[in-house]
Amino acid sequence: MRTATHAPRIYWFVVCSHTRIARVDGAYVPVPDSVAHAKQMGSSLTACGKPVGTWTRLFEIAFPSDGENCADCLAAVTPRR
Ligand SMILES: [Zn+2]
Repeated sequence: MRTATHAPRIYWFVVCSHTRIARVDGAYVPVPDSVAHAKQMGSSLTACGKPVGTWTRLFEIAFPSDGENCADCLAAVTPRR
């Protein structure tokens, strides 16, 4: 078994039911046009437990997004102290 020198960072990206195309830094890219949920690579559920199904996976956009975010996902991915 390989021993990692440090734990991999948990990375959440945005999934959403609707996207639109926006110009970001001169490129046209899909951005959320509905509430953004959080998903991890390899999972078929969002952080709030919804099946992702046909939702668009925006691997380039880290959760939380600049737009509207799912409150349950926010609570799930925010480390508690
Ligand atoms: Zn959610």
